[in-house]
Amino acid sequence: MSAKYVFVTGGVVSSLGKGLAAASIGCLLESRGLRVNLMKFDPYLNVDPGTMSPFQHGEVFVTDDGAETDLDLGHYERFTHARLSRDNNLTTGRIYEQIITKERRGDYLGKTVQVIPHVTNEIKNAMRKVAADTDVTLVEIGGTVGDIESLPFLEAIRQMRQELGRENTIFIHVTLVPWIAAAQELKTKPTQHSVKELLSIGIQPDVLLCRTDRFLSREMKSKIALFCNVQEQAVVTAKDVSSIYEVPVVFAQEKVDELVLRYLHLQAEEPKLERWRELVDRCYNPKDEVSIGIVGKYVEYEDSYKSLKEALVHGALAHNLKLKVTWIEAEGLETKDRSYENQLEGFDGILVPGGFGKRGIEGMLNAIRYARENEVPYFGICLGMQTACIEYARNVCGLEGANSSEFDPATPHRIIYKLRELTGVEEMGGTMRLGAWPCMLEKNSRAARVYGKTEISERHRHRYEFNREYEAVLTSAGLRITGTTPDGTYVEIVEIPEHPFFLGCQFHPEFKSKPLEPHPLFRDFVAASYRNRLQRRGRQEQREMAEVQRVAP
Ligand code: GLN
Repeated sequence: MSAKYVFVTGGVVSSLGKGLAAASIGCLLESRGLRVNLMKFDPYLNVDPGTMSPFQHGEVFVTDDGAETDLDLGHYERFTHARLSRDNNLTTGRIYEQIITKERRGDYLGKTVQVIPHVTNEIKNAMRKVAADTDVTLVEIGGTVGDIESLPFLEAIRQMRQELGRENTIFIHVTLVPWIAAAQELKTKPTQHSVKELLSIGIQPDVLLCRTDRFLSREMKSKIALFCNVQEQAVVTAKDVSSIYEVPVVFAQEKVDELVLRYLHLQAEEPKLERWRELVDRCYNPKDEVSIGIVGKYVEYEDSYKSLKEALVHGALAHNLKLKVTWIEAEGLETKDRSYENQLEGFDGILVPGGFGKRGIEGMLNAIRYARENEVPYFGICLGMQTACIEYARNVCGLEGANSSEFDPATPHRIIYKLRELTGVEEMGGTMRLGAWPCMLEKNSRAARVYGKTEISERHRHRYEFNREYEAVLTSAGLRITGTTPDGTYVEIVEIPEHPFFLGCQFHPEFKSKPLEPHPLFRDFVAASYRNRLQRRGRQEQREMAEVQRVAP
């Protein structure tokens, strides 16, 4: 069978959830027994998002092979079992980098190198590479139709249709049908314009996924079908949902998978969605709530910590709990006295996520101190592990001014310093310790208990490491190192055994958590946080009972 492609474009505005739509369709096709793969093209000129600020770009998602990619790849991995690598996310910058390298090598044999055919060929080759050994490959084109910079990608998918024919390619356009309050009406004009824009470059969409806040009526669908030249049943209501994990189930109700199969001339078994349905049921019927405070630097922009938030949701769902996350700006905790503690009271668990640069570090250290001293479950990820070590050095071991050389190059106690393998490396792009690395866990540690094994593999993205010269001081004061690289070079996990949950890891477990396979560390952290909630609730009830007994005659 030849490879089949689903091309996903977006129109009218950005942020319509193209990535989620692609991931959900992938999920549905996979549930029907098809082998799927997903990829995304980003039209910007950066070679990868690794050098971009989280405010610009949101989270940088890291794959096993160490590629720094778009956060939509996180959705792809959470919704499917596709194995993603650096081949699954390409930017204009990467495509041009490849072409220019070839040109300098003389590979073009004297020809003029042009957007068509050279850039478009490079794009098509990238698609074919990802499509090998799969039944269906979903290709998401980043940006919005009408952007100058996405033109070569749209031209490439137009050519793919030309080459492969209708039965092997399908164009899905994600568009907006807004409700206009003043007119009390849904409006189809933006969708019509967006489809016209696509037509002007030679692409007639087959399916329209219409983002709306309410169901489209039959009349509305037939109007859109008529004006946009698509079949009526190919106009799909993509209504807002409160849990993203409902999207595959909603798409199944709207028969999006059947449409795709029909257009691609594919036969497949019935979808098996029981586990997704059961998950959605848990999303909407939690038995209780758990509240986590996340202390970080990019917290006002939630997309910066996309996978982290989802991993916490997975951990909560594993215990049938609703997750309440509060984002706490770390700088706001940098008070001279202990008044920052007021902002931290009432959370069942506290988490410090990954981050770069000096801003907010003292606030994070305060939050960690609070969690450690008050037996509030604490989970530190990457920067959150490094700051946990610094806090321990300062406040338990009395090493005044202890720090990371990233934040204070002149610190008297470099608890965290530049990775020894990166000494002398000043270039920023793709130079961190990236991707999956093995880690050995200490027997009888929380980590080993939680993972249920002593050898794990997790994904990394960091430039600094724990300085083992301070190991003896910190461990003799009670901190335990429970995870290291197999050769013992790098510290990967630290714990405080006496604490209800105090664990820091140098890697990013959030990248490997899936709704149907919650990551063990998140599952355990949420469990500990919930225990804390129940204990506090119990104590509160006891106090109230004592008060009732006191005032009762
Ligand atoms: N800034 C720290 C480092 O580079 C932590 C990185 C992170 O949290 N991802 O090591």
